[in-house]
Amino acid sequence: MHIKTGELVTPGDKLGAHEEWMPGDGTYERNGFVFAKVFGRVRFDEDKLEAVVDAVNPVSTVKEGDVIYGTITDRRGALATMDITLIEGKSRTVRTYKEGTIHISKISNDYTENIEDMYLKGDIVRAKIIQVEPSIQLTTMGKSFGVVRGYCFNCRRGMGLQGNTLYCEWCERRERRKLSTLYGKIKLKDK
Ligand SMILES: [Zn+2]
Repeated sequence: MHIKTGELVTPGDKLGAHEEWMPGDGTYERNGFVFAKVFGRVRFDEDKLEAVVDAVNPVSTVKEGDVIYGTITDRRGALATMDITLIEGKSRTVRTYKEGTIHISKISNDYTENIEDMYLKGDIVRAKIIQVEPSIQLTTMGKSFGVVRGYCFNCRRGMGLQGNTLYCEWCERRERRKLSTLYGKIKLKDK
């Protein structure tokens, strides 16, 4: 798998080896590799030998039924809040951040007792819009919805998938989430 200039990436996507590319704006370097730090479009600058991610501005309009990606910003009581960043399958230019909420009853097809067992602040989640006005409401019911990238509570590194749980190889730590079947497979390519 090789990421090319112009492709959309999510935070944590590996862009290349450090000996090949310097980490530019919107990226970071870790263990000899350059990773995307923001949602955006990759640019490999051949002159500066730099990998850059130009952040895409977030969605301007969303409608019921849109499948979106965003980052969990808060969990409180029966609600998880997220910043909506991208609409799946569209590469239109977008303007202002939109906030959406997921009610505890709409997290999973199974009963959710505690929202904090399902989502952690910083998780990247694939969700569907079920209501736009007066506020954006989302659902993550269904197998393909839920966390597509999760970060370790302890060290904040991206976690791998092991069976039905997430695993941090540095901390040797397991964490539970409402996972999407697309975990680790999302590339958000342009159509
Ligand atoms: Zn960790």
